[in-house]
Amino acid sequence: MTNAGAEPPEFGASRAADGGLPQEQLEALWEIARLANEDLELQPMMQRITDGLARRFGWDLVALVRILPEENRFECQAVTTHLDTPVRAGYSRPLGSGVVGRVALTGETICLDDVSEFSGFVETLNRTASEICVPVRHQGRVVAVLNAESSQPAHFAGQQLLFEAVAEQISGAVARGLLYEQVRARSEVLETLAEVSRRVVDGRALQDRLEDLVDYLRSRFELLLAAVMVSDDEGQYWQERAISMIPRVPIHRRQWPIGAGIVGRAVTQGRTVVVEDVREDPEYIALNDETRAEVVVPLKFGGRVLGALNVEMGDATHLSEASIGTFEAIANQVAGAIELAVSNRRLSEKERQLADANRELSLVNEELSRLAGVDELTSLANRRRLDRCLADESRRAQRHGEVLTLALLDVDFFKAFNDTYGHPAGDECLRRVASCLRSHAVRAGELVARYGGEEFAFVMPRLPLEEAEAFIDRTRRAVTELEIPHASSTVSEFVTLSAGVASLRPAEDNEVSDLLARADRALYQAKESGRNRTCRWTPQLTEPRATEPET
Ligand code: GH3
Ligand code: MG
Ligand code: MG
Repeated sequence: MTNAGAEPPEFGASRAADGGLPQEQLEALWEIARLANEDLELQPMMQRITDGLARRFGWDLVALVRILPEENRFECQAVTTHLDTPVRAGYSRPLGSGVVGRVALTGETICLDDVSEFSGFVETLNRTASEICVPVRHQGRVVAVLNAESSQPAHFAGQQLLFEAVAEQISGAVARGLLYEQVRARSEVLETLAEVSRRVVDGRALQDRLEDLVDYLRSRFELLLAAVMVSDDEGQYWQERAISMIPRVPIHRRQWPIGAGIVGRAVTQGRTVVVEDVREDPEYIALNDETRAEVVVPLKFGGRVLGALNVEMGDATHLSEASIGTFEAIANQVAGAIELAVSNRRLSEKERQLADANRELSLVNEELSRLAGVDELTSLANRRRLDRCLADESRRAQRHGEVLTLALLDVDFFKAFNDTYGHPAGDECLRRVASCLRSHAVRAGELVARYGGEEFAFVMPRLPLEEAEAFIDRTRRAVTELEIPHASSTVSEFVTLSAGVASLRPAEDNEVSDLLARADRALYQAKESGRNRTCRWTPQLTEPRATEPET
C-alpha cells in the first residue's frame, strides 16, 4: 500500500468546451498511459497506475483488482490510499461480492454517490461515502476492475467518463501484463518439472532420490513440510518415507498405516485433497504446529495408487488452482519414477527367486543323474554305474573263466588347459573327449565311464591285455586327432591322453579293486614315462610307487 501524499491537487472542476475531457485530465491520462507501459510486470505496473491516479486526481483510495475467473474470485493487485483499510495487494473476494465483485461479474460501471444505497455493500474503509468501479476490458473480456472510494459523498459524480477513459488507457497494458505473467508462470512450472525429473530419474537408490526431491520442493515452494510416501507391496503401510520439514522432527512410528490422516483420505479416494485449514480437519495428524493448509496428491500409475505427495504450508493464500496443478504434475513424474524403481525391485526379487529355484532344480537333477548312473557333464556312465558294471562283469568273467580288462585314461596337463583357456573351455574339452571315447565302445559289454575329474575308465570284458592295449592306444590317438589346441602342453600342440591298461581273470581271491589299482598303476607309469602314451600293467609294476626305480 502506498501513501498518496497529503495534499491532493484541485482537479476535475473544468470541462472542455466540446464536452470531452479537460486539458489537465487529458495530461493525466497520458501520464497514466505512460506509467502503464513502462514495463510488463503486472503487479508493479498496477501499483504505478494506482499511485499515479491517486497523485493526479487526489482520490482517497484507488485500487486495481484482477479477475480470476477459474477460481471465481477477484484479487486486489494494487492499492493506493492514505486511509486505514484492510484492502491490500492479495486481498480477495468471490466474484459478485460487493461493488467490485458485482462489476467484475457484470462488466457494468457502478458509480455510487452514497454507498448505503447499494445493497450488499462490503465495508472495507471506515468512512467510505461514495465509490466508483469501472471494468477494464480487453477484447471484450473484463480483465480487471478499477475502483476508487472517497470519504465525501458524491465525490465521483460526473466522473464516469474520466474513469472509463483511464480504464481504456490501461487495458492493453494490463492484458499484456496478465499474458506475461501467465507465460512466466508456465515457464516456472516447466523449470520446476525439469528440476523434479532431474532429481527423481537418476541412478541413485529410490530413497535417496526422494529425499533430495522433498528438500527441493520444500525450498522451491517455501513449504513447511514436503513428503513423499511409497506404499508397500500389500498397500498396507508406507514402506518408504521421505520427509523434509523445518524443524526436523524425527518420526518414530516405524509402521505408518496407509489409511491414516488426510494423506490416507487422498489415497483411499484416489484424488487430490486440499485442506485450507487443517485445524478444522479432525483427521489431520500434526507434524508441524505452524501448518495451516495441506495438499495431498495420490501418486498414481496405471490406475494404481503407489504412494502420496504431501505438502503443508503456513497459510492457504498461495494455494491457487495453478499451484495445485503443479503439485499434480510433479506427482505424476514422481509416480513414474517410483513405478520404475518398484517394478525393478520386484523384477530382481523374481530373478532371485528364479535363480534359487534353478539352483534347487540343478541339485535335484544332479542327484537324479547320479541315481540314474549318468555323469552330468559328459553324459557318460558315472562312477556309481562303473562300479556296478565292474562288479557284474567280474562275476560273469569268474563264472565263465574269462579275462576282464580295464583301461584308465587321463587328460595330460589338464590343469594347465583350464588355466590357459578357462574352466568352461575345459568342460567343453571334457565333453569332446568323452564323446570320442564313447564312439569307440562298440563291442558287447563295453562301457566308458567318467572315473573322476579328467579321468575316464574303459571296461572291456573278455579282451586280452595285448589287444586291449593296442585298441586303447588307437582310441587315445583318435582323441589327439580331434586337434583340440593345447598351447601349454609340453608333449603336443593338441590335447592328449595317457592311458594305463590292466587285465585279470577274476577269482575268489581277487577283487575289482585290484583291477582298478593295476590300471591306475599302469596309468601312473604312462605319465611318468612321458605322457601321451599307453602303458600296460605288468607284475613289475606292483611295487609301491615311491620305491619305483626311475626309467
Ligand atoms: P597330468 O598331466 O599329470 O594329468 O596333469 P593334470 O594337470 O591333468 O592333472 P591334475 O590332477 O594336476 O589336474 C587335473 C585338473 O583337472 C585339475 C582340475 O581343475 C581339472 N578338472 C577336474 N574336473 C574338471 C571338470 O569337470 N571341468 C574342468 N574344466 N576341469 C576339471
Ligand atoms: Mg588326473
Ligand atoms: Mg590329467
